[in-house]
Amino acid sequence: MSLLIRNGTIVTASDFYTGDVLVEGEKISTIGTALDVPADRVIDAAGKYVLPGGIDVHTHLDMPFGGTTSADDFESGTIAAAHGGTTTIVDFAIQYRGQTLHHAWETWTKKAEGKAAIDYGFHMIVTELTDQVELEMDALVRQGVTSFKLFMAYPGVFMLDDASIFRALKRTGHNGGTICMHAENGGVIDVLVKEALAKGQTAPKYHALTRPARAEAEATHRAIALAEIADVPIYIVHLSAAEALEMVTEARDRGLPAFAETCPQYLFLSYDNYEEPGFNGAKYVMSPPLRAKETQDQLWRGLAFNDLQAISTDHCPFCMKEQKTLGEGDFSKIPNGAPGIETRMSLVYDGGVRTGRISLNRFVELTSTSPAKIFGLFPRKGTIAPGSDADIVIFDPEKKMRLSVKTLHMKVDYNPYEGREVAGVTDTVISRGRVIVEGGKFTGRAGSGAFLKRSARS
Ligand SMILES: [Zn+2]
Repeated sequence: MSLLIRNGTIVTASDFYTGDVLVEGEKISTIGTALDVPADRVIDAAGKYVLPGGIDVHTHLDMPFGGTTSADDFESGTIAAAHGGTTTIVDFAIQYRGQTLHHAWETWTKKAEGKAAIDYGFHMIVTELTDQVELEMDALVRQGVTSFKLFMAYPGVFMLDDASIFRALKRTGHNGGTICMHAENGGVIDVLVKEALAKGQTAPKYHALTRPARAEAEATHRAIALAEIADVPIYIVHLSAAEALEMVTEARDRGLPAFAETCPQYLFLSYDNYEEPGFNGAKYVMSPPLRAKETQDQLWRGLAFNDLQAISTDHCPFCMKEQKTLGEGDFSKIPNGAPGIETRMSLVYDGGVRTGRISLNRFVELTSTSPAKIFGLFPRKGTIAPGSDADIVIFDPEKKMRLSVKTLHMKVDYNPYEGREVAGVTDTVISRGRVIVEGGKFTGRAGSGAFLKRSARS
């Protein structure tokens, strides 16, 4: 099969020009102007952007948490991602205590195989670090699972002590992996949560009030310091607080390879959402929590000046019905997470590019190119170039859409951006040469997504 995309405005992290893209099989074969070649199918992209497919390096599909499981599995989650212009995800496989990394890898492979509609990779969450697990980390890097997520929060469940964190960091100095860190001081938060509950403070907003920005900043600082001592890079996931961003900025100004992502929820929502009536605040219970509205400007500034290098979603949806309600009467029992896999590209384009906060090239870089580079997928993914996978989004910059649970495809019963109008909408989505979304309809196939063997740092 060949596919010719004509007359579009091709946008990468560095370029912007009108041209034609010829796709042969799964790859981009030729880029030019007025390409006069036969193709099985021709798509006219005049007036639209031709972008590299979005890459979301932080998703939690089919993930058990707090006695329930995130509402999207690899089928519904990746189809929703495709609708929103994302063609690659990196999800998190979890090693539970007493289990091997291999077991976790097998478990998550089974969840994804036959279901994923777009390509996927895995980060491995390490919750217990033995000598054996260190050896397994090396083996996983060779298998293409080249990043590991560690937690400084959730004591007794996911949290690792500093010595284990330090050992894992050092190990990546040998095996070329990358450590991703959930940076919040879990011990401090646990004390604050117990105090609040003892005072009868049980409403959703106390989730945020017991997770202060400084607890995120402290852990961010500590994570970077441990990585500095171990002499390895570090990637901070879902950075939400201005105080934490200061720590990353300070480290980068000293020349350290400290990287961080933020997520749309921290750019478009704020603490005020927790004050919505009744139990509605539970919609926004996630960790780290939403911050003061003023933080948004600082995060945008971090994105513009490259102190933040990626925008991912931390997509981890739980329905209000029967899931979030587990925490009615005790905010600490509300499953942590919110949906976002489908709305990232439109929100960031509308709220970032159209407002002039970031350039169009920077939009592509933050949502595709830079995560591809950090996580060993570039140049196969993350750009439009001959030889790269034909993961392409034809994006209509003028088309408007009202975000609503009624029309979005994520399998969850609310949307945190309900009613918000965005301009800039995915028109056609191509995954390795196949058109998988067209005219608002999913035309791909569950199970056609492939596991991505990612490269280690060289
Ligand atoms: Zn997460």
